[in-house]
Amino acid sequence: MGEIPEKFFIPDVVDVKQRKTDIGPPHYSNFLPPVIKKNYGNWKTHEILSPGLMVHIANSGDKIWTVRVASPRLLSTDTLREIADIADKYCDGYFRFTTRNNIEFLVSDESKVQPLIDELNAKKFMIGGIGSRVSNIVHTQGWIHCHSAAVDASALVKAIMDEFADYFTTKETPNKVRFAVACCTNMCGAVHCSDIAYVGIHRKLPRIDHDNFKNVCELPTTMAACPTAAITPDPAKKSIKINPEKCMYCGNCFSVCPALPIADPENDGVAIVVGGKVGNLRKPPMFSKLAVAYLPNNPPRWPEVVKATRKIFDAYIAGAKKHERVGEWIERIGWEKFFAVTGLPFTFQHIDDWTYAFKTFRTTTQFKWTK
Ligand code: SF4
Ligand code: SF4
Repeated sequence: MGEIPEKFFIPDVVDVKQRKTDIGPPHYSNFLPPVIKKNYGNWKTHEILSPGLMVHIANSGDKIWTVRVASPRLLSTDTLREIADIADKYCDGYFRFTTRNNIEFLVSDESKVQPLIDELNAKKFMIGGIGSRVSNIVHTQGWIHCHSAAVDASALVKAIMDEFADYFTTKETPNKVRFAVACCTNMCGAVHCSDIAYVGIHRKLPRIDHDNFKNVCELPTTMAACPTAAITPDPAKKSIKINPEKCMYCGNCFSVCPALPIADPENDGVAIVVGGKVGNLRKPPMFSKLAVAYLPNNPPRWPEVVKATRKIFDAYIAGAKKHERVGEWIERIGWEKFFAVTGLPFTFQHIDDWTYAFKTFRTTTQFKWTK
């Protein structure tokens, strides 16, 4: 281990082994705990000992314990230093972030497991999330790094996680429940493949700042940024026009042209999609589908979104068989019954009337009545 496989070398261009650069991540094998390096690909089993603790056992008999805690996702340098110090103290410096931003402390010495848990508890880290329960909620960057957000992703996650925290720390669900938030329809998060997920949506056209357009935007790049060809030149104004019939409020044009702001505190909001999963267990990966077309942005606690989520979550807990993911449960009972048991309204936005939908049965994010 620790070597970059030969197939990744680019002969005669650059010797990757020798390269010293800050472009791209360093090879992961440089960061594996020694016990994982030693037993790489040679693990026998694992056991979940409590909601936030599991142990992996290698064929050699070696063991490594994982203690999982939730992260607030947007981390201060102070919190990162605190996490690193804890890892230095108990884990020889080894910890990792999962794809959903759980923090996992990797402990090779069993005698350090309980002291680590005690210190995490004392420092108010929330321990749990392993196995059939709610995991840390992953979200996209939101306003802190991105310009096209329709919802304050981290605040919405806080409101949801506060509601379901006991399903992270103690209670079980039929199978794991993955939540995700994307703050606009560009969806750079895991919304399409999460059990219950939220998408920030804009519902109004970008507002064209004709006076500034010619000063800060390029016509070709602005037109090219629009995936639906809704943008055409407006020579009289030395600006552009937007066809409201074609615009899908994605905000792409604002990415390249600051004279087209789209964020709207009155009309932006949240859609809820359900039933996605990444894993191949029992069924292939599933895309999430639309459950609620629009709920208002209502910070700081988003009561409408939390209430709708509660309906979906409780119906799933009550109706799913053991090991069924949300999408598998819905597939078994049918979408008609999903709306009946959750009490969520079925609206015209749920009907997929896209002209080419028949070619994309398995990729559409909305559903069709089958009979
Ligand atoms: S989902 Fe949209 S707003 Fe959020 S970070 Fe990604 S591109 Fe930006
Ligand atoms: S919001 Fe999206 S669809 Fe609408 S004009 Fe801009 S790029 Fe085109």
